[in-house]
Amino acid sequence: MTSEQDQATIPDFSQFATVPLCHRPTPIEPMTRLSEHLGGPNLYIKRDDCTGLASGGNKTRKLEFLLGEALAENADMLVTQGAVQSNHVRQTAAAACHAGLKCHALLERRVDGQPPEYEQSGNVLLDKLFGATYEYRPSGLDMNAEAQTVCDQLKAQGHKPYFIPGGGSNSTGALGYALCAAEIQEQNRHSDTPANWLVMGTGSTGTQAGLLAGFAACRSNLPVLGVSVRQPREKQIAAVHALTVATARRLGVQKFDVNQVIVDDEYVGEGYGMPAASTVEAISLTARLEGILLDPVYSGKGMAGLIGNVRKGFFKPSDNVLFLHTGGSAALFAYESVLLKAMS
Ligand SMILES: *Cc1c(COP(=O)(O)O)cnc(C)c1O
Repeated sequence: MTSEQDQATIPDFSQFATVPLCHRPTPIEPMTRLSEHLGGPNLYIKRDDCTGLASGGNKTRKLEFLLGEALAENADMLVTQGAVQSNHVRQTAAAACHAGLKCHALLERRVDGQPPEYEQSGNVLLDKLFGATYEYRPSGLDMNAEAQTVCDQLKAQGHKPYFIPGGGSNSTGALGYALCAAEIQEQNRHSDTPANWLVMGTGSTGTQAGLLAGFAACRSNLPVLGVSVRQPREKQIAAVHALTVATARRLGVQKFDVNQVIVDDEYVGEGYGMPAASTVEAISLTARLEGILLDPVYSGKGMAGLIGNVRKGFFKPSDNVLFLHTGGSAALFAYESVLLKAMS
């Protein structure tokens, strides 16, 4: 290959400590029936619900780098935080088991008025299965600060905790998605229908920031549309931008323009962890047309954003739009009554 276009620019990831956890590359599949149903552009799905590690999801890729750093620091336990039905806590607990470490989690009761299965089934059941210890917090606290305080107490007791922020979203965790950007770039290079848009749900920002940093390092300008699951647009853009800059620096990219951060906040509904009508529609359409499971907190809202933007005519009919499936189906059973009611 001689022309510059054919030459892949892949940043050097070997400078970072990692632990292999991820099944890669995750496949990219056409969503033929959903594309037909919507009469829109060609829709594809990247199956990061199939990354492995305790039913998969996007935290696997972040944990490869986070666990690498934890082991390099001789930690004996992972400490993290999340909402009660956090996929991140479930996957961190599994990663700890894999490495022979303990896991302690702070669970925030972020979502009010939930049925009993919300505190017992889904991810919570799996946290227990992995032997993680946990404690609860009411909503509205600075959860990363709470977890840091717990780390200090654990250190005083002689433990060597490694702190992982909510969602694994610091520049170390985000490197996992920078590496995923390089993976997508490679898949695009070998595809007859390369994606020209990437869409996914965005929460604690590590996924979108890592992708943006990775594409910048790869000198790709593939646009990334983040569908907010929680915060208003401006706040989410600022948060994604800050982490993109920090992550890009670690890959030798010194600048990243805030105008390149694209966020749509029209699919949040009433708030984090509360599926909107559009979320439930997206979950059932994707199940019935593609046989693929989404979740009520993240990927369901991300897909609602994709479907909504197709219907609005945001994409060109000739576009190849790639949806990043970030996982989360383990939470479906914790939303049993909410989903049954919405589908009845
Ligand atoms: C954590 C999570 C997200 C959001 O990723 P962030 O990096 O936190 O923005 C999306 N989907 C699922 C299923 C998740 O668990």
